[in-house]
Amino acid sequence: MERILVTGGAGFIGSHFVKRLVQSPSISRVTVLDALTYAGNRNNLRTVLSSPKLTFTHGDILDRGLVDSLMAEHDAVVHFAAESHVDRSLADASGFVRTNVLGTQTLLDSARRIGIRKFVHASTDEVYGSLPSGTALECDPLRPTVPYSASKASSDMMALAYFHSYGVPVCITRSSNNYGPNQYPEKLIPLFVNRLLAGEQVTIHGNGEHVRNWLHVEDNGQGVDLVLRKGIPGEIYNLGGGTDLTTNELTALLLKETGTTWGQVDYVPDRAANDIRYSIDWTKAAQLGYRPQQPLDQGLARTVDWYRRNPSWWDASARSAGA
Ligand code: NAD
Repeated sequence: MERILVTGGAGFIGSHFVKRLVQSPSISRVTVLDALTYAGNRNNLRTVLSSPKLTFTHGDILDRGLVDSLMAEHDAVVHFAAESHVDRSLADASGFVRTNVLGTQTLLDSARRIGIRKFVHASTDEVYGSLPSGTALECDPLRPTVPYSASKASSDMMALAYFHSYGVPVCITRSSNNYGPNQYPEKLIPLFVNRLLAGEQVTIHGNGEHVRNWLHVEDNGQGVDLVLRKGIPGEIYNLGGGTDLTTNELTALLLKETGTTWGQVDYVPDRAANDIRYSIDWTKAAQLGYRPQQPLDQGLARTVDWYRRNPSWWDASARSAGA
């Protein structure tokens, strides 16, 4: 797999993955296809944009002609492009169906026509829905509860259907909540850090006892890379192994790292749909060699430090979104 097409490579997770690929001696070419929506930012790729290995294409995954021409020049696709924010999906689900379902199907169709050698589809643990106890296995039923997770579950089903119906060599990764530098400041960790550092209030929905598993974005990249190289077509791989924390526990760590206090935290009524707990079993990915490396305390400290040192990235990112 020497030539890799990465969709959504200007977003949070995609840009970290592109940087990883560009540094890999076994990769000769990386092409990013990204529509640069509010969540995409070429600056996320600043350190590698001048690499002779990297080509950036500004375009939409629903542009069939463009997708065909790019796909024909690559050995594999890693598909990150998506609408990814739950709150936005609750406000209007249509963009989520368009990009996450129809966009994925457009890519799969092209992969089928071109005969791509590997198609890695990046999905989420949120497709399993809320688990009162236990951990979700890849074979467990999908119980999405919000339009975002429903659109991702739909795209997972479509990807598997293209494997079974047409033999498209699809692998799916389902990762837990990622954190790290370059995350658009609407997501919990960058939102809280940004506001706390600015002396502003942050809000916790409900009682703050919702549990999420926090995985460093570079650990997710390690898992996606392994699935790209060694994953068995037609298989799904959960990528967890970060740290389970309630929102209250996470907030306490962020207050400590930013040197702020609970006085900056307000509690507001919970959303109508807010899954109580996600948890995934990642034994299958471990069998490929997947081992998360970043302890949460260190990863979080470095992440907060990155946002503290990069306020202009925040501003540019928020301005481009009209936020
Ligand atoms: P993100 O919102 O930061 O980035 C998405 C990228 O996709 C942006 O660069 C955007 O410009 C691009 N994009 C959107 N629509 C497009 C289109 N029609 N054509 C081309 N490009 C388009 O998202 P992220 O947090 O980096 O997530 C990447 C993937 O990983 C998503 O599929 C998401 O569902 C999944 N995921 C994310 C997390 C997480 O914690 N962030 C966890 C599990 C899974």
